[in-house]
Amino acid sequence: MTELTERLAAGLFHPMGVDGVYARTGLYEGVVERLAALISEYRPAAAEVFRFPPVMSRADLEKSGYLNSFPNLLGCVCSLHGSEADIRAAVQRHYAGGSWTTSLAPADLVLSPAACYPIYPIAASRGPAPRGGLVFDVACDCFRREPSQMLDRLQSFRMREYVCIGEPNDVVAFRTYWIERGQQIAQRLGLPAKVETASDPFFGREGQMKAVAQFQQALKFELLVPIYGTDRPTACMSFNYHRDHFGTTWNFQDHAGAPVHTGCAAFGMDRLAVAMFATHGLDIASWPASVRDALKM
Ligand code: AMP
Ligand code: ZN
Repeated sequence: MTELTERLAAGLFHPMGVDGVYARTGLYEGVVERLAALISEYRPAAAEVFRFPPVMSRADLEKSGYLNSFPNLLGCVCSLHGSEADIRAAVQRHYAGGSWTTSLAPADLVLSPAACYPIYPIAASRGPAPRGGLVFDVACDCFRREPSQMLDRLQSFRMREYVCIGEPNDVVAFRTYWIERGQQIAQRLGLPAKVETASDPFFGREGQMKAVAQFQQALKFELLVPIYGTDRPTACMSFNYHRDHFGTTWNFQDHAGAPVHTGCAAFGMDRLAVAMFATHGLDIASWPASVRDALKM
């Protein structure tokens, strides 16, 4: 662990025996709550709110194409199936020094890797998107299998998103608006942020080509904050344009009958909170007055 990690971790987290999974202190959680309230202040009036559980339908995520892009990051819920005798045999193996896990079979659930995946099938089930599009405010605890000792790369973390579904110009305008607002929020928080074109860490060699295409087409922007130094700043927000990917996947049309386009503005709640403590220190009372004002603390 770096010195920064150790100093911050002591005030914010308690280890839980697995890299990237932490118990959070009251000090830390208080800031997460204030950040969430600040983001809510910016909620578009027309936005419909959903809070999702940390798990979602495995079939829905498979249909979304997640396995083509990030199979290495996905966590799947597994459990013991079968008769009482089958289950007891697995447990007895454990107590005899063996492993119960060899009897696990996948359930119909995965751990949600992002907050917006569940909204597309829900919105699609209601019929075509109206003129002007739809906006949602969604959040959930997310899981990504990327164990690390860095406090900005967790396996279990919170994500909040505003999502737009509509015609291409609705989504492009939405994204431009949120890139602007994201920077404004960062400024109010006293975070030295910059926005840059980005790409997702697509899996494998083929994935590198996807990342290049995503970058060239400027489909993803990230708001970067130097937590571990300016040479490798951390993406604390992302602004994504999926074009018609989810519209086609979910047979979801706009009012004119074309596949809807979608986009999202994602706030990494844990990364934002860690960035606040890394930037302003552990003593909230000594944070700049303007920052405490913005957070109403
Ligand atoms: P992404 O879908 O990768 O753009 O993620 C959306 C946001 O979630 C990012 O901008 C980060 O702030 C946050 N995030 C992504 N991965 C992690 C992680 N491993 N640990 C903490 N936050 C994360
Ligand atoms: Zn999203």
